[in-house]
Formats: sequence, structure tokens, C-alpha cells
Amino acid sequence: MIQSDNEMGKNRRMTRIASHRGGTLEYGDSTPRGFAATAAMPLDEVEFDVHPTSDGAIVVHHDPTLEGTTDRCGAIAGLTLAEVKAATINYSAGGHPLTLDELCGLYATSSVDFRCEIKPGVDARPYAGFVPQVVDLLRKHGMLERTTFSSFLLSSLEELAAATGRPRLWLVSPPVLRQVGVHGVIDLCQAQGIPEIGVNIDTADAELAAIIRAAGIDFGCWAAHTPAQINKALTLDVKVFTTDRPTLAMALRTAFSHGEVAA
Ligand code: FE
Repeated sequence: MIQSDNEMGKNRRMTRIASHRGGTLEYGDSTPRGFAATAAMPLDEVEFDVHPTSDGAIVVHHDPTLEGTTDRCGAIAGLTLAEVKAATINYSAGGHPLTLDELCGLYATSSVDFRCEIKPGVDARPYAGFVPQVVDLLRKHGMLERTTFSSFLLSSLEELAAATGRPRLWLVSPPVLRQVGVHGVIDLCQAQGIPEIGVNIDTADAELAAIIRAAGIDFGCWAAHTPAQINKALTLDVKVFTTDRPTLAMALRTAFSHGEVAA
């Protein structure tokens, strides 16, 4: 049975902000300095993506490969941790990809909670046996109770449900929303007990939010980076949105809470 914030009748809090990949447009993509900066911010969540290495480590990185954002090449799942650590992230003041262990250390005393996205490999398929590995590591660090999980893949959400009772949300891409339709999305959520979805901010509107909420499903957005996109998310009163510009988003949320909508 789906139990969302709406259905449970909880008091709605202010829209939550998730610093996407540690604030990509302010600090670079999935960088140590971005994650360290976010840990010190008065916001709600830090969003990050995880991939396994060939020798059993878990790396915090967006792409399944290194070449898009570092000076090295190759699929993370085919490299050792030492090989991944040898990569220098572009625009990151010489930083190297973090392990999930290291990220847990950075946030041990932070008030910012985790939003962990389970990514597929280069073949777009889930990594075999990866979800329980991620859950176990977060539990070992005492971070599991501070983690919400997300994925574009329904199969990964199923694996999460089997591994942990922690909240999980389905990232519904524009093509999926277009092809399945809002009622198809609701049917899938109800069939799989998914209590929350996130859609691209550019596909969100008040009608979509109302239909999703009426079905007892929490509604959030991702990729709200510009002032217009961030103000749209605040105006729609979404549960949470991810942004590459956490500092800007916090300032706009403060203005919004004071009845101002900055352009
Ligand atoms: Fe992500």
C-alpha cells in the first residue's frame, strides 16, 4: 500500500531542495568540493549517483564512464578503485571521484540528508547485486536512515524495496511520461507500491501535480536550475526538487517564503 506524505495527512513542509551532484553548476559535477560545500549548507538533501568498481568499491559519479567529466577514460565497473581514483575531475581544482565511504564521512555530522540515485551501467542495465551492496554500506556508516533512494529504473526500485524500507522515488523521464501517460505512471506506482515520483521540471505543471497528488503519490521535480525553473517548482509546491545551483535555490526559496518571487 502506498503511504505518501499526502495520504498520511502530514503537515506539508517547505519545498525541499536537493543539491544535484553536489551543485554541478556551482562546483563542478560530483566533485569533492561540491559535496563538501553542500554538507555545510542549510538545505535538505544532497543528490548523488553511485557505480561499482571491478574490485568491490562504490564510487560517487554521474556517468557510468569517466570520459565525460574527467581526464581518464573507461567504464567504472571495469576499473579498479585505484584506477578510478587516478582520474582528475574537470573544473574541480584537482579533485578525484569520491567513494561512497568518503561521502558518508563528509556527511556524518552534516544536517543534509542523502538522496542516492541507483544508476545502470554502460549497457543501461542495473548492476547485478549492486543495490544490497549500497544499502549495506550506508547502514554500516549509519547513513541508511538518512537516505532516500531514487532511480529511473523500475527494476532498481524493486530491488530497493526488497533490500530496505527506506523511501524511494521513481524518476519519470519526459519520454516515459509522454509514452505511458500520467494515468499509466499512477498505475505503475500503485502496482509497485512507489510512494513518490519526480519529473523533469519542464514537464511539470499544476494539472499534472494535482492528478498525481490525488492518487496519493508525492510529487517532486528534477533539473530546476534557472530562476524561472526554481520559482516554478516553488510555486507548484513540489515536495522536493533537485538543482545544480543550490545557493541560488536557497536564496529563491527564502524570497518565496517571504512572499517575493525573484525573477
Ligand atoms: Fe542523479
